[in-house]
Amino acid sequence: MELGLAGRRALVTGAGKGIGRSTVQALHAAGVHVVAVSRTQDDLDSLVRECPGVEPVCVDLGDWEATERALGGVGPVDLLVNNAAVAQLQPFLGITKEAFDTTFNVNLRAVIPVSQIVARGLIARKAPGSIVNVSSVASQRALMHHSAYSAAKAAMDMLTKVMALELAPHKIRVNAVNPTVVMTAMGKINWSDPQKSRAMLGRIPLGRFAEVENVVDVILFLLSDRSGMTTGSTVPVDGGFLVT
Ligand code: NAP
Repeated sequence: MELGLAGRRALVTGAGKGIGRSTVQALHAAGVHVVAVSRTQDDLDSLVRECPGVEPVCVDLGDWEATERALGGVGPVDLLVNNAAVAQLQPFLGITKEAFDTTFNVNLRAVIPVSQIVARGLIARKAPGSIVNVSSVASQRALMHHSAYSAAKAAMDMLTKVMALELAPHKIRVNAVNPTVVMTAMGKINWSDPQKSRAMLGRIPLGRFAEVENVVDVILFLLSDRSGMTTGSTVPVDGGFLVT
C-alpha cells in the first residue's frame, strides 16, 4: 500500500535502538525528513551514517527542561512518534522511587513537552498532523513485575485519547500502538528466560512474539493519511493476546 509519506517531516523519540531506530529507517526510506531524538550519541551517529539527512538530537527525555531546550528550535514537524521508554521491571514490593520516577518521566511525562512543541507548531502553521504513541499490551493486562511500566503505559493510553479529543479540531490525529513482546534490546533483557517467554507465548493465539517490522508497519499506517479517520485508538500488535 502506498502511504504517501514522501516530503513530510517526522520526529521519532527513542530513535537510537529497537523499534524507534527501525521506524526512522522506514520513514527515511519512504522519503520523509526525520528528526531522530535519543540519549546515546553513538547510536545517533551510526543512524545518520546509515540514513544521510536524518537530523539527530541527543537529549535525556526524562528531563523536561532539557527536552524543551533541545527541541524548542526544531523545524516544522508533521508526524510524531513518541516511542522512547525504559523497562526497569521490579516486583511490586521492591519498587524503588528512582525506578518509578525514571519510568514515569521517560515513558509518560516526556510525551507532553514533545507533543506540545509539535502540536503548537502544527496549529501555528494550520497544518494537519499525526501523532503515534508507542504503548504496550502491558497497559491492559497485568504482567508480573510490570507495576510501574504498566501504570505508565495505561496512563499513556488514556493520554492518547484525551490528546485525540483536544487536538481533533486542529486536524491532528493521535493514536497508540500496543505491541506484545518484541525481541529488541529491551525485549531481550526482560523475556530471554525460556520459562518466562514460554508462558507468555502460551497466551498469544498466533503463538509468536512480534517482529519489529510488525510494529513499524502499524506506526507508519497510523502516521499516514491512509488512517485518516482513525484517532484516539489503541491498536494492538499482539498476535491476539488481548482477546484472551
Ligand atoms: P529499546 O530497544 O530499549 O530502545 C529504546 C530507545 O529509547 C533507545 O534508543 C533508548 O536510548 C531510548 N531512550 C530510553 N530512554 C531515553 C531517554 N531518557 N531519553 C532519550 N531516549 C531514551 O526499546 P524498544 O523495545 O525498541 O521499545 C520501544 C517502545 O516499544 C517503548 O515505548 C517500549 O515500551 C515499547 N514496547 C516494547 C516492547 C518490547 O518487548 N520490546 C513491547 C511492547 C512495547 P538509550 O539506549 O541510549 O537509553
